[in-house]
Amino acid sequence: DTIGANLDRAVATWPDREALVDVPSGRRWTYAEFGAAVEELARALRVTGVAKGDRVGIWAVNCPEWVLVQYATARIGAIMVNINPAYRTHEVEYVLNQSGVRLLFSSLSHKSSDYRAMVDQVRGKCPALREVVYIGDPSWQALLGRAQPDVTYDELSCDDPINIQYTSGTTGFPKGATLSHHNILNNGFFVGELISYTEQDRVCVPVPFYHCFGMVMGNLAATSHGACLVIPAPSFDPGATLEAVQRERCTSLYGVPTMFIAELNLPDFASYDLSSLRTGIMAGSPCPVEVMKRVMAEMHMEEVSICYGMTETSPVSLQTRVDDGLEHRTATVGRVLPHLEVKVVDPVTGVTRPRGTAGELCTRGYSVMLGYWQEPEKTAEAVDAARWMHTGDLAVMRPDGYVEIVGRIKDMIIRGGENVYPREIEEFLYGHPKVRDVQVVGVPHATYGEEVLACVIPRDPADPPTLEEVRAFCAGRLAHYKVPSRLQVLDAFPMTVSGKVRKVELRETYGA
Ligand code: ATP
Ligand code: MG
Repeated sequence: DTIGANLDRAVATWPDREALVDVPSGRRWTYAEFGAAVEELARALRVTGVAKGDRVGIWAVNCPEWVLVQYATARIGAIMVNINPAYRTHEVEYVLNQSGVRLLFSSLSHKSSDYRAMVDQVRGKCPALREVVYIGDPSWQALLGRAQPDVTYDELSCDDPINIQYTSGTTGFPKGATLSHHNILNNGFFVGELISYTEQDRVCVPVPFYHCFGMVMGNLAATSHGACLVIPAPSFDPGATLEAVQRERCTSLYGVPTMFIAELNLPDFASYDLSSLRTGIMAGSPCPVEVMKRVMAEMHMEEVSICYGMTETSPVSLQTRVDDGLEHRTATVGRVLPHLEVKVVDPVTGVTRPRGTAGELCTRGYSVMLGYWQEPEKTAEAVDAARWMHTGDLAVMRPDGYVEIVGRIKDMIIRGGENVYPREIEEFLYGHPKVRDVQVVGVPHATYGEEVLACVIPRDPADPPTLEEVRAFCAGRLAHYKVPSRLQVLDAFPMTVSGKVRKVELRETYGA
């Protein structure tokens, strides 16, 4: 199916059920209203001359218009280019030109970001860019005013590219993964299947829509099952998120681990009524076992699921299921999704490794991207001739098929010839009473090549742990080469907008 055809089916099946709620503005759409709003925007785009394959950019924080643009562009076969709202002029100019965006939707401003002023600065340098429409501005109404009752759409195929999603930029400059209807609609649908979405579900999405977590695992998973999408705030705010869950009686809540940690640590956490929650998804970076257990026990999310994936694979390839045992649901990222394949290979030789041993995770199937937009060399480095996507992540497949993510190949620390996996030390240090959050990175060392640096956010800023305390905590319980030799106490970690810690930056800042 195309995304447009799938939405038509949802509108026909659940016309009167709620499809979309924007908590900050109080606006609401039923499926019938949502379908009509998408149709109106799609027609307006067609009258404006946007055709199949044209690039339409969206540089905006979370808002209902984001979702309308997502479905309207898919309906006419235009290629939506998701632009990270944290970008500044240099990066936006690059993305607009690299993908050849002809029409751009943008937020006006949010917090300290004045998007209109930034667009004005780069516009003259983007030859393909013909029009900018601001959300919440007369230019949005003016665009809709062009819609005519009978417009013709181009003929679409499921395998057409309809989306360029940039990766998070956790390890370097973001890459534009080109994805088809088939890629992302199927992935969204199966993610929703595995957490048993129905039209009774109300899904709270505090993760950014520009990223696959929001737009595929959120928007597409919800609408392909008739569930309602709830937008708690334009950008992540832990209090606003729990407030939205309570007010809208949400049944499902999403987040990267750091978001759940922020919510659990709110001083007034206990005052929110979260009893409507049943499930949700934690994904995007390693999910600490302790945090998973607290989310299950203290947030009513008994059925919460962990997903593993990457932008290039639409994104999810592994997911835990409700009926997996507790250990599998907290310590692994589950089993492969239906209709996909995964394998663990030797990163150098490419030979499949025996179960139980670490190697590079590879994914194959309908979810693998068409390629990086106009970068055939980079595509060839990531996707091999047999269409396996090489993820750059180290994983162990257990004999029973469940997969543990060990960490990114790039983050692995080699200290005096020993391989050290930061994740293992992080999990261990979460158990220290003075540690609220921790990241472990390798930093250069004259003798050992690299040494272990622990960056810690203390529970009580007035009483941070000392290096001696951390070392004493590890002594006798971790091999000596894993024990951190350096400690850095921080208030916060450098983050991507998709909520991941930029270890590169920790290494650069504190590695000297
Ligand atoms: P870039 O590729 O630009 O450096 P990125 O890899 O963070 O950034 P994304 O596509 O957003 O960009 O994220 C995919 C990566 O996130 C995976 O390759 C993996 O390292 C990590 N990841 C995703 N889910 C999980 C999970 N459940 N557990 C551990 N790591 C995860
Ligand atoms: Mg990546």
